[in-house]
Amino acid sequence: MYYAEDKRRKNIYEVVSVVKLLSLLVCGIAFFDSDIWIEKSLNIFNMVNSITLVLFSIVLLLIYKAWSFSVARDRFDEKITRKDIVEIAFYIGIFLFLIFITGSHKSQYKFIYLFTIITATIQFGKMFGLSIAFLCSGIILTIDYFASPSGIVNNYFQSDLVLVGVFILTAWLIGYYANLEKGYREYLINLANKDELTGLYNHRYFHESIRYNFNMAKKSNKAISLMLIDIDYFKYYNDLYGHTAGDLVLKEIGELLLAKGRECDIVARYGGEEFTILMPDTDEEEAVLIGEKVREAVQNKYFSGEESLPNGKLTVSVGVSCFPGKSQSIKELINSADDALYRAKFLSKNRVESYVSILDELKNDIEDEHIDLISSIKTLISVINAKDRYTYSHTMRVVMYCQLLGDKLGISDQDKKTLKFGAYLHDIGKIEIPKEVLNKRMKLTDSEWNTIKQHPANGTEIIKSVHSLENIIPLILYHHERYDGSGYPHNLKGENIPFLARVLTVADSFDAMTSNRPYNTSKTIDESIVELERCKGIQFDPLIVDAFIEVLKSNEAQLGL
Ligand code: GH3
Ligand code: MG
Ligand code: MG
Repeated sequence: MYYAEDKRRKNIYEVVSVVKLLSLLVCGIAFFDSDIWIEKSLNIFNMVNSITLVLFSIVLLLIYKAWSFSVARDRFDEKITRKDIVEIAFYIGIFLFLIFITGSHKSQYKFIYLFTIITATIQFGKMFGLSIAFLCSGIILTIDYFASPSGIVNNYFQSDLVLVGVFILTAWLIGYYANLEKGYREYLINLANKDELTGLYNHRYFHESIRYNFNMAKKSNKAISLMLIDIDYFKYYNDLYGHTAGDLVLKEIGELLLAKGRECDIVARYGGEEFTILMPDTDEEEAVLIGEKVREAVQNKYFSGEESLPNGKLTVSVGVSCFPGKSQSIKELINSADDALYRAKFLSKNRVESYVSILDELKNDIEDEHIDLISSIKTLISVINAKDRYTYSHTMRVVMYCQLLGDKLGISDQDKKTLKFGAYLHDIGKIEIPKEVLNKRMKLTDSEWNTIKQHPANGTEIIKSVHSLENIIPLILYHHERYDGSGYPHNLKGENIPFLARVLTVADSFDAMTSNRPYNTSKTIDESIVELERCKGIQFDPLIVDAFIEVLKSNEAQLGL
């Protein structure tokens, strides 16, 4: 409603400004129509002519000023500012002057206050309009009181009483209608913006507000952060206690988020059991602190039946990202917060993670001349992400397994880096594989299988022009070779397969075994370990498998396996 509401207020402002202009015009006409000009012009005709011209120009200037003063506002809100008070005082003053020069209590222009009463009521509501109506009535009746000789009832007083009645009635009627319309509008806006179950803002409003606030942040060079929150094991909770109990939890968490968010934050229900907090003017550090408060608050709150959940508690995982530090567009901001949430889930849940891009880390190790290429690779990765979410999350997991395995094998720091970047980029060649093939549920045809087999070579092609990534090439090219020589693309065997590629193969295959893919269901950790053992010396380097099994056993909790 941000834009629609702004437009509505702007339109009202324009109409009100036109009315103000008209009132000044009426004022100008009345001014030149007044008796003082007629009397004086008989004597000093020429001089008056030029004074008229000057005064007329001044009035036009005033009209112009009043116009620009009214419409030149950044926000067209309904709050009464000092500017508004000054403006109203200006109109009341100028109309008072007009009434004086057109005969004070005898003036036929007292009705001109209606303009001020109408505009003030439309803009600021019934109470304010009525106050202005009473003020103007007071002015007119006071003029009547002082203008009449003592003791004699002023002939104009009676008709002025009627005019005062008209003032008050006008303010009351317009104000009543304005308030009615406001209440109804707020009711409809609420319906359109709020989520029925939790009372938080809904997905539609969230997108509207992120557009608005992101643009504001960009314009004013300020930071903006986004937090995505997902309930852990919520499906499990629903399965245990039913959806009605689940709905109650959603409601309670909604209340808690509202309590933890600050006034400026936009707290919304993003989807089923996902929430989001948009934090204007907030950097990543602050956002992570707020995320931590939210996580802790959920952990400390008791939810009925939570003791039967896998953690014994109902918890949430939180992903945080920010602009401009971690993203440059709205899409990037949402996607990076989503990636951070994914990492939080992956790293044992009930935690807050902020977005880290391995490619950004990689940039530090790359010569300046290749930075652009790295950015292109980053774009490719996000294309893969959009096309095949599995490949992306799989990549993140493989990077993590490789880091743990690298530590276990005691390889050099340089090799650790190569392994990490290799793990990150190993599937980059999949960019050329059609989505339908990547996600196919049936068995692949021969030609589709051949396309898949091209991805190590394609990946090599993509990065080969970046000299600093040279030592990653063997990892990309040989991560599908098998220890017994039956792999692809070059049927390398045993120690002929570069060591780091053999390491990557184990991590990559383990993740494929433990993940659900369209064409097969995942194995448990124990089943996967049996499978790794079975393939020792056939598909995998036996020593690396042994080290990896040890890693798995000692990191079970951290890996959330
Ligand atoms: P994870 O810890 O990885 O987040 O696992 P999870 O079980 O929470 O899985 P996921 O995030 O995919 O959970 C989605 C579940 O949320 C599925 C559905 O049972 C539940 N859900 C989604 N919308 C609603 C809703 O409006 N009411 C209720 N009661 N449950 C919902
Ligand atoms: Mg979810
Ligand atoms: Mg969940």
